Amino acid sequence: MTIAFVTFGCRLNRAETLDLQAKCAAAGHEVVAEPTAETDAVVVRGCSVTARAQRDCEKKIAHLRARFPNARVITAGCLPNAQKIDDLLGTVPNPGTVPDFEFHAANTSRAYLKVQDGCSGRCAFCIVPQFRGPPRSEPFSTVLARARDFLANGYREIVVTGCNLALYRSEGRGLPDLVSALAELRNSDVSHRIRLGSVEPGICDAALLDAMEAHQNVCRHVHLSLQSAADRVLARMNRPYKIGQVAAFCSDAVRRLGPRLALGADVICGFPGETEEDFSATRSFLGGIRFPASNDGSRTADFSFSHLHAFPYSERPGTPAAEMADSIPRAVRLERVRILEKDAAERAEAFRARLGGQEVEICVERDGAGYSGEYVRFPAPPGAERRSLVRFKA
Ligand code: SF4
Repeated sequence: MTIAFVTFGCRLNRAETLDLQAKCAAAGHEVVAEPTAETDAVVVRGCSVTARAQRDCEKKIAHLRARFPNARVITAGCLPNAQKIDDLLGTVPNPGTVPDFEFHAANTSRAYLKVQDGCSGRCAFCIVPQFRGPPRSEPFSTVLARARDFLANGYREIVVTGCNLALYRSEGRGLPDLVSALAELRNSDVSHRIRLGSVEPGICDAALLDAMEAHQNVCRHVHLSLQSAADRVLARMNRPYKIGQVAAFCSDAVRRLGPRLALGADVICGFPGETEEDFSATRSFLGGIRFPASNDGSRTADFSFSHLHAFPYSERPGTPAAEMADSIPRAVRLERVRILEKDAAERAEAFRARLGGQEVEICVERDGAGYSGEYVRFPAPPGAERRSLVRFKA
């Protein structure tokens, strides 16, 4: 079969598509980048984190069905009616088969390693658990074997991803153990590094910082699914933490991993009932205004977020939040996103400037540029090989 893939959404979706492409190639299917009239099947891996994201996926699916009537369009990922791929593609080999990385390597410079799926959270705005089901983790030994495959196939950066990564648990070990084991993998004498996907505050703790502190080849970049920094809003969202806990984690992280640690956050603006005061609390928390990092206020935290994904709240039918009163006008939601993004752009520039004159290490991508460990993008030195890790003065 000739199979094309269209992927929306997060790194987890990306990792799943790359895995399936490698399996399909190993099974002798022809994996193509774009569908054509000769294509037998198109796998669309969708995202429903917002209403708009779902609409975009459904538009694409309708377009593909109209444009390629002979191709079987298969929906996967976080979409209603997502189909079981293996049944449709039929001849996908068993998980033990060595995946064929050729297509993989031709199309990605960093390896996306899916280690966990599903979520036990019940966040009031979120529809993901309805699509992804309860939490489950890839076996510890399978994950290490896959990572060795990636290293043996020339990858130097492995991005660890999951639906709720911090819930990883296998063979009695959690995410910190996995991060340490991945960092300690040896692939002849070629170095590699590990980057963490987004983690849920309140679940990631000091043990994760222990693992990061002990391994210099774990990128100094922590991206938190924060959503808000106002305890009143966090409670309405049914998030399992208070902002004081997050402040303490961030302050420990900066103290232990150093001032070059890049903190990132996902934030929802305009959640039902979010007041101007709540929004200001989130804004100042992200900006690193000295923040009480202990209940008795004896310790203040000094950190700021140099990376931000801000989203306007989006009603998802079937979620508790969609039934909530105190809806915030869309214009206000968008304005709050605009304000946070402007602040974040200024902080990102300041963070980048602070790296000036210092040694950075990037993973070189197709366009001759790449991300540093702190997730700042730099052009690669001339002649740097794609997928390699190169160090130079910023
Ligand atoms: S932790 Fe909450 S926001 Fe994240 S996937 Fe689970 S339910 Fe959704």
